[in-house]
Amino acid sequence: MIYSQLSTDSWVVRLEDGDDILMSLRKFVEGKRVRAGLLEGIGSLKKVRLGYYDFETRKYSWREFEEDMEILNLSGNVSIKDATYIPHIHVSLGRKDFSVLGGHLDDGSRANMVEVFVHSLPGELVKAHDEKIGLNVLQLSHKF
Ligand code: ZN
Repeated sequence: MIYSQLSTDSWVVRLEDGDDILMSLRKFVEGKRVRAGLLEGIGSLKKVRLGYYDFETRKYSWREFEEDMEILNLSGNVSIKDATYIPHIHVSLGRKDFSVLGGHLDDGSRANMVEVFVHSLPGELVKAHDEKIGLNVLQLSHKF
């Protein structure tokens, strides 16, 4: 993983051949103390583990694909939960036959080459478990 700093609160990170995408970004935001952030990226990966959260069963189903795919879009946010930095990432992926698949990105997804912009936001975003939804969600302070 290599990176350049663009401003006091933004960086561009390049993940290289075989880097674990989620794990690398977790390390990076932890190292830079990004307690609230936005992630956006493009590139290519060789292996992906995707999740789909079913709101009825309240469970993730997981699938792995081991093939070179274009990362059409990688987007996500960074928050913290119990002092742990949590990058939450979704991807759209383009296959060789130009079809597209996507989902929630899990550990074990490996880069060919991925460029990710990391934007640190002021303050912090805190996640906690929501019983009704069954997931860790951002804790927000105002009702509209
Ligand atoms: Zn997700």
